[in-house]
Order: sequence, then structure tokens, then C-alpha cells
Amino acid sequence: YVIGSSEKELRFVHAVRNVSLNLNYNEILGIAGESGCGKSTLAKILYGAVDPPLVLRRGSIYLHTSEGRIVDITKLDKEDLAKRIWWREISYIPQNSMNVLNPMKRIRDTIIETFKFHGIEISKDEVTKYVRDLFDFVGLPTDVLNAYPHQLSGGMRQRVVITLAMMLNPRIIIADEPTTAVDVVTQLNILTFLREYQNSKKSSIVIISHDMGVHAYMDTAIAIMYAGSIVEYGKSEEVFQEPLHPYTKMLMSSLIVRGDKGLKRGIPGSPPDLRNPPSGCKFHPRCPFAMDICRKEEPPIIEISKNRFVTCWLYAKR
Ligand code: SF4
Ligand code: MG
Repeated sequence: YVIGSSEKELRFVHAVRNVSLNLNYNEILGIAGESGCGKSTLAKILYGAVDPPLVLRRGSIYLHTSEGRIVDITKLDKEDLAKRIWWREISYIPQNSMNVLNPMKRIRDTIIETFKFHGIEISKDEVTKYVRDLFDFVGLPTDVLNAYPHQLSGGMRQRVVITLAMMLNPRIIIADEPTTAVDVVTQLNILTFLREYQNSKKSSIVIISHDMGVHAYMDTAIAIMYAGSIVEYGKSEEVFQEPLHPYTKMLMSSLIVRGDKGLKRGIPGSPPDLRNPPSGCKFHPRCPFAMDICRKEEPPIIEISKNRFVTCWLYAKR
């Protein structure tokens, strides 16, 4: 992110740094970490939605398209993205998506317009035909098409947005905190729906959440983010069974006490100010295992076993 309005005070804050990830076919990849760690920024970059003050300084995002080509989506302009990539290849369900629907428009018109944006003309009647199955799948009656957003509950709006995101059968769905603003029952419905959709289409999902419960339920692979970087990555069952990074361990213990109000223990300390990050390992001020080297040098990315990575000096062979 660029901070500052005048040329003189202009400076970069590295919201995301040194991230290297693979999203495989038929996979649910979770991105976990406290709020402010860069999860949403990463989601926007993956989708190609890089708007000021967000700037992509370096890096590539290679997509294997449904036509069998490989494109670097960071090289495409907005028009190409809208016509070729967004919705057809990758859909994005933004954070607080229940508020993205235009309050002045009936759902049907929003759908028609969104199609238009992607270069597809569709009539009012066709909309009904088009969404019937998807609405069925998410448990929405077709009457919803004639409603204005304010006539729907938060959970229903959320499901409308999710339906929108799936209308052109994307092979990748990026969902940013899809369940934070809804009640527990709706939460479970939405997650189950995403999982079933993924399974039936063999598509891939990137699910972003600060809630480790969501990851435990959804993920096949998980990446733990801290202060803009990934500190641990692996198959979900392996990371949950044996977390390696001290930060991951803390996140896991927050999961165990979750739900017991008396014990609601947060993670001690708070994430660093990225305008002025700590030296060495950015987690060192909060880490119970911090050593001298941690304060001085950034830890390397260590491959513990196949597809299992951790960024921590404790695992370095020295
Ligand atoms: Fe803790 Fe050091 Fe590992 Fe960072 S590198 S997580 S400070 S032990
Ligand atoms: Mg966020």
C-alpha cells in the first residue's frame, strides 16, 4: 500500500511480501491469520483487483485457464480481466459482500447488469432460468429476484452474492471472510454450500478467514499469514495435527478455547505496525521462543517435508 498524499511523504508499506503459493485443482486452500495480516490484500492481488492505494510492485500470478493456456493475470488490463478472467475463470466474494448489492436495484436487474459487465446480454426471463438451479442449491426462492436488497436478511444477501459469483462456473473462487457477518446457522449453510459446490464442480476455493474453526471445517491445504508473509503452509490435516510455527500454535490454541466464553483467550500481544515492522522475524516481539538471531535476521523458508513449509529459525539446520 502506498501511504501519504504528497510526493514527499509518499512511502510504501509492504502489506504482502515474499508470498509464493500454489493453488491446485480440486483444492480448498485456507488463508488464516489475524485481521490486518494481509489476507484481504492477498485476495485482491490474486483476483487482479489492484486499485490505488494498493500497488503491485513485483510478482506474477500464473493462471492455467480453462482453455489450457497459462496467463499472468498481473499483465492483463481491467477490460481483459472482466471479459476473460473474472467470473469465467476466477470469482471473488469480497469481505462484507452482503453490502455490495446496489440498494436501488432489484436483484434481477443487478444480475442482468453484472452479466452485461462481463459482455453477456441476458433477458429478464432468462435470468430466472439461469439462476433457478443455483438458487435451489443455496436455498433461495426465485422470488428473491424481484426483491430489493433491504427486503432480504443478511444471510440471504450473502447467498445472492455467492450465487452471482458462481453464475459463470468459475474454476476458482476466492471468498474473503464469507461468514463473519451472519449467524451461526447461516454460517454453516454457506460453508457447506461452498464445499458442496467445490466438490461437485471439482473447482478450487481460496477461503480467507481469521476464524480457525472455518479452516478446520473447510480446508484441504492451509497457509498461515503473519505481518504480510506466509509463516507456515501445508496440508490442512498435517498443520492442524502438528502446527510447527509458534504463531500457528497460538492460533490453534485460540481454536480450542473458542466457544467457552469464560475462557475466551485471545492471542497475547498484537500484530506489528507494518509502517514500522520489527527487525528480523516479525513475530519475535510476541514469540515465547525468540532467540538472538530472531531479532537480527529474517528466518528462511524451510521445507520440512514435501509441501510442508515453515518460516522459523527453530527449524533451521545451523
Ligand atoms: Fe519465534 Fe524466532 Fe521462530 Fe520467529 S524465528 S517464530 S521469533 S522462534
Ligand atoms: Mg480482511
